[in-house]
Amino acid sequence: MADKRDNLIDWLRDAHAMEQQAEQMLSAQKSRLENYPKLRTRIEKHLEETQGQKALLEQTLARLGKEPSTLKDIGGKLMAFGQAVGGMAVSDEVIKGAMAGYVFENVEIAAYTVLIAAAKAAGDVETQKACEQILPQEIAMAEWLKEHLPELTQAFLDRSETPGLEAKR
Ligand code: MG
Ligand code: FE
Repeated sequence: MADKRDNLIDWLRDAHAMEQQAEQMLSAQKSRLENYPKLRTRIEKHLEETQGQKALLEQTLARLGKEPSTLKDIGGKLMAFGQAVGGMAVSDEVIKGAMAGYVFENVEIAAYTVLIAAAKAAGDVETQKACEQILPQEIAMAEWLKEHLPELTQAFLDRSETPGLEAKR
């Protein structure tokens, strides 16, 4: 059996591993994007937010007397997303990356929604506040990606049919 606090801590550690993966994905995308400056700028912003989220989760876990988990602990749970973005050889890398990013942000939204409910149930107001601080950043990133997918697709298609231009990234 596990009490509310045990579950809360497990989920905080999962979230920390998730943010580590987010950081890896976003920095890979940032360094590879060349021809889509708006997307790149938004990714840079969210990379900074992600680093702040990771630090906030570390502080939260430290306050609860726990170590953050490593990517190894979480194993295959989220690796599929990494692979989606890791498939850099694809010719529509920018589109696949934005799609994977949208999926990932929605996983984060679900994770922090669960954490907020679990923190409430455990009566841990500080953890609840930390997660409530993070959640809107994930929602904003998901919404930005969704809103910009049509324009990004158009830009990709235009570049694809223009001789001498690279569309891929
Ligand atoms: Mg995040
Ligand atoms: Fe995020």
